Amino acid sequence: MKILDLTAVELAERIRRGEIDAMESLEAVFDRISEREEQLHCYLVLDREGARAKARELQKRRSAGEVLGPLAGVPVAVKDNLCTKGMGTTCGSRILENYIPPYDATAVRNLRNADAIILGKTNLDEFGMGNTTESSYFGLTRNPWNEERSAGGSSGGSAAAVASGECYAAIGTDTGGSVRQPASHCGVVGLKPTYGTVSRNGLIAYCSSMDQAGPITKDVRDSAALLSVIASRDPKDATSLQRDDLSFLENIPQDVEGLRIGIPADDSGKGLDPEIREAIWSVATALKERGAVLEEFDLGIMKYVVPAYYTIACGEASSNLERYDGMKYGLRVSAEGLQETYRKTRTAGFGAEVRRRILLGTFALSEGYYDEYYMTAMKVRRLIRDAYDKAFLKYDVLLGPTSPQIAPKLGESGMDPLASYLADVYTVPANLTGMPAMSLPCAMHSTGLPIGVQLTAALFQEKTLFQVGAVWEQIRGKRYE
Ligand code: GLN
Repeated sequence: MKILDLTAVELAERIRRGEIDAMESLEAVFDRISEREEQLHCYLVLDREGARAKARELQKRRSAGEVLGPLAGVPVAVKDNLCTKGMGTTCGSRILENYIPPYDATAVRNLRNADAIILGKTNLDEFGMGNTTESSYFGLTRNPWNEERSAGGSSGGSAAAVASGECYAAIGTDTGGSVRQPASHCGVVGLKPTYGTVSRNGLIAYCSSMDQAGPITKDVRDSAALLSVIASRDPKDATSLQRDDLSFLENIPQDVEGLRIGIPADDSGKGLDPEIREAIWSVATALKERGAVLEEFDLGIMKYVVPAYYTIACGEASSNLERYDGMKYGLRVSAEGLQETYRKTRTAGFGAEVRRRILLGTFALSEGYYDEYYMTAMKVRRLIRDAYDKAFLKYDVLLGPTSPQIAPKLGESGMDPLASYLADVYTVPANLTGMPAMSLPCAMHSTGLPIGVQLTAALFQEKTLFQVGAVWEQIRGKRYE
């Protein structure tokens, strides 16, 4: 087996046992980066020296007899909206082009403490706003399966890096699908954990009530391993949770006998590629053959999820992005007087999509419109949560597509923002409600691009996602192809 074919868990085990030297797998990743990065553009920052220094440190500590951490020597890529001490963090935006954080995001610190090697920072749609990674100020990322196609977004750099072997695992962030959707388009596993499981400290805010970091990995076991590491209760994030059920790797059950799977009927509605629908049904049927009980049902709320999501997300974004005023950090375009400096800085610093959302959000929160838009969206959010709570009284897990379409051709989606927002219909419910959801590769489309299936569980039930996901991997054989 080639070294790059190992999963993160397999690699860490071998490094801990001394069968593989951390420097050897790191150099294999660098070789792959030399082969493919010029085309794909997964990374905004690559820290070769820092990564090599960590590998050397691990070698030393191992020879001194120290027991290394659970991700010993695993080269991990981190989305560039998570702060990394001393390493540029841009959010894919010109406004943060030269920003170097003085601290690590808690999730990043957790990775370091687990002895992972932080390779660098991956490309994203500006501030996580988008689903193709084309709105990055620093240029787009290409899909490793077909370079004319988008890697998805906003964590496109992370997903493409995992799929191409430019890292062993990556961290993305998911406000409305940005871990799951690029994972789906690149044929890898992407998990959005229950809101509050991973600290948001050091995750640069887009929509604080929905932002959540999660792992993008080669398989389900790696996903569980990474989540166990990055999750933590953190005094620096008041919404982070104390969970005592994070040892996901222990006993992921190997069967789905009697498990109740709900298939939301609205998920097979208009706009869904028929090949994707077929792929989802073959997963469902295969699980049924393993003893799961299937039922189609109507959630009754699908047409409200995208409008509710975009109203709330833009509202929170307009407030969160106020801090980029050219005064404290980031870009400053000096002009006559304070107001003019603000205006020039923000006009030069933000791209078109970010500006559109700031404008929409400011409008939705403004006096006279607040009740009509933001408050209504918040009420709808509650109704959406109620519909899912009700569904989870009957089902252990819901199954459906991650995205209605395969990875779009580059250059096509920027033309119609509304159509692009609608492509988030299957992923935003997990963010509006806080539920955990995972995208897994499930089939290949006739165009040769991967299709992802999405599993959603009730709050705190990640273990059910890992269980069903692991059984599906068993059925399917192996991860990528
Ligand atoms: N595509 C969605 C948006 O643009 C989701 C983004 C995300 O999860 N960061 O808001």
